Amino acid sequence: MRTITAVLCLLAIATGPALAQSCPGNPDAIGTSRTITVDPSVLPQIGTMQYETSLPLNDHEVVITFDDGPLPPYTGRILDTLAANCVKVDYFLVGEMAKTYPALVRRIYNSGHVIGTHSLDHPLTFNHMKVERIADEVDGGIAAVQAAAGDPRAVAPFFRVPGLLHNKTVDGFLASKSLTVWSADEVADDWHHGITAKQIVKLAISRIEAKNHRGVLLLHDIHPATAMALPMLLKELKARGYHIVQAVPAGERIASVPELPAKTHEAGGWPRVVKTSVEHSAKVRVARHHHRRHHKPATDSADAAIEKAAASRKKAQTADSGQSWFNLWR
Ligand SMILES: [Zn+2]
Repeated sequence: MRTITAVLCLLAIATGPALAQSCPGNPDAIGTSRTITVDPSVLPQIGTMQYETSLPLNDHEVVITFDDGPLPPYTGRILDTLAANCVKVDYFLVGEMAKTYPALVRRIYNSGHVIGTHSLDHPLTFNHMKVERIADEVDGGIAAVQAAAGDPRAVAPFFRVPGLLHNKTVDGFLASKSLTVWSADEVADDWHHGITAKQIVKLAISRIEAKNHRGVLLLHDIHPATAMALPMLLKELKARGYHIVQAVPAGERIASVPELPAKTHEAGGWPRVVKTSVEHSAKVRVARHHHRRHHKPATDSADAAIEKAAASRKKAQTADSGQSWFNLWR
């Protein structure tokens, strides 16, 4: 870490000091330096991991995106971190998750973030689906998130394909709907089982640096390791002279949507320890999302059942099975 800090200082000198950002109560915050307006007719595809085009970012500019939520308590924790650092990001919400946690959806919007969508139920089969089924998932996801947000104008025409499993049919459909399809420039493997917060930060930074010191970073707000990594990541980005940019849709942004009182399960605690560890808790959550079509708050007995299932799955995995069920989740 000492070496990294030393390198950081050099880089900070080489690239000049970060622009002063106004963030009340936190002079060390990285803040958000600017927005880029994305019009689907001008920029239909974003992300060099899969497409030829990405956002027109300058040197040392990063856009942070979060997929798969909302899910308490991690989404709330991440929103707290973003607010404390005056960082605005882009979310890609899953319809069924939004239906279950509408208060979180509204909190995301009212915190100044942009909300795109990520299908109704996150099937990892987009590249095998007929166009009618693609339409159901895309349109259903948008409708669910719009309803949860309480105002359709709160949802941007931004879509990310679950698992990034696109093909020509998917891309053609999204273009016909005037939706910008978002891939990414970098991922940080934060959906991998057992990855630590430090590893997420290291991967994110090294991949951003390798991609010409800029990019659209894909993270997930449903994992505890991601929530724990975010404060470190923002600090590291600032130390290296990076700036945060937010992509926004064209047109005027409505000021806010009506708030909903957070239910107990949405407010959540931190960390929500199910039994053995925070990581285990995450796995249980993901198992629930991954294997159940409806994401109702689980009862204690359901928690126990899912825990048992997750434990047996873990047992069945071997250390070198690269393609575990968990790795499919992104
Ligand atoms: Zn996803």
